[in-house]
Amino acid sequence: MSAVRRRALSILGALTAAALFGGLVGDPPTAPAARVSTAGVATAGSAEYVEDAHGIQVRRRYVVTGAPADRTVQAGDRIRISGDAVTARRHGRARARRVTLVERTSGRWRRVESTRTRRFGAWSVVLDAGTDLTTRTFRAELSRGRGLRGGASRSFRVRVVAGVTADPTPSAPDPGPATTPAPATGEVADPAEPLPAGYAGAGSASDWSALISGGSRWNPCEVIRWAYNPAGQGYDALADVQRAFARIAGASGLRFHYVGATSWRYLGSSDDASGFPGDTADIAVGWASAAELPVLSDMTVGYGGASGWTVPGADVRIRLRRGFLVLDNGHALPTGFDRPGWGQIELHEILHTLGLGHASGSNQLMYGTATWRNLTFGAGDLAGMTRIGAPAGCLS
Ligand SMILES: [Zn+2]
Repeated sequence: MSAVRRRALSILGALTAAALFGGLVGDPPTAPAARVSTAGVATAGSAEYVEDAHGIQVRRRYVVTGAPADRTVQAGDRIRISGDAVTARRHGRARARRVTLVERTSGRWRRVESTRTRRFGAWSVVLDAGTDLTTRTFRAELSRGRGLRGGASRSFRVRVVAGVTADPTPSAPDPGPATTPAPATGEVADPAEPLPAGYAGAGSASDWSALISGGSRWNPCEVIRWAYNPAGQGYDALADVQRAFARIAGASGLRFHYVGATSWRYLGSSDDASGFPGDTADIAVGWASAAELPVLSDMTVGYGGASGWTVPGADVRIRLRRGFLVLDNGHALPTGFDRPGWGQIELHEILHTLGLGHASGSNQLMYGTATWRNLTFGAGDLAGMTRIGAPAGCLS
């Protein structure tokens, strides 16, 4: 794959077990532990292949979290780091706190930057990546105060790489993966589940983002085919996944068709060499263990993404042609859609495969943390779905 710029991005949202199974009311804001990676090869040329994926995590509560927006940045560019901090005791009043970003150099943690959190704990800093091609290791620290615990986040790394414009070997544009056919036009779609009459989502209609920067969506004028791999399943999720697709169809106008079982699942790659069943399906849903797929380690319960190619002149940069989502069979979560659990996680991950990224408000399904607050579509989710769905028009 020369002439291909490939980008893999993963964002892990945090979800505490307490929030998942029980009372959120009065809980301090949970800490979305975003972990993002960008890896890729880039050469000159106009065709660009892009793949992004996001995971969702159930996790113990941190006092403070921090993570880079991109795990790889170009020399001379900026490193954007954001996180969350506990700013109130249970039932207490939330107040801003000071977070210090430290970097490990010569075996010691040294202060790089300090910032105040917002009242409910969100914080972010931007710093220069510098010009040394190296891997920088950071963590966020929070001091004790007002009866609140202090502590440090897990450390995270940012790789500083040479800029792609410096690539000295331009080559011809890649024509694209030969085994990725267009979805079958005119194929029968499965029934959609319309939104309840008068349904209004919570939160802000502007609270949504694209999975891939510059915008990413499927062609809504074709039926999107999906397959399910029951191997190693944590529970028989087919009915829940079918309903999740039906609900998204009802809200977005996208049309889906379940084509049956597949033996393929995402284990770190969805490219042609992985054997993605592109001749029969566009999206593949499966299960894996943390041992099989390291991004599912710890409390990460799902991982989903999509890939596609640039479409010059369209309203989005990338037309998606392949989607994948994998569920972690090491977790026993509630099934269905009535409580935080698998149905909600399937909705969230499917929306990643369809081109949506994370929302910033905890009442959006696309928020990185799944709780009682975002069991169903928020206003931002709905707006995002109109931008990737039928109202956006055909995409050739
Ligand atoms: Zn996500």
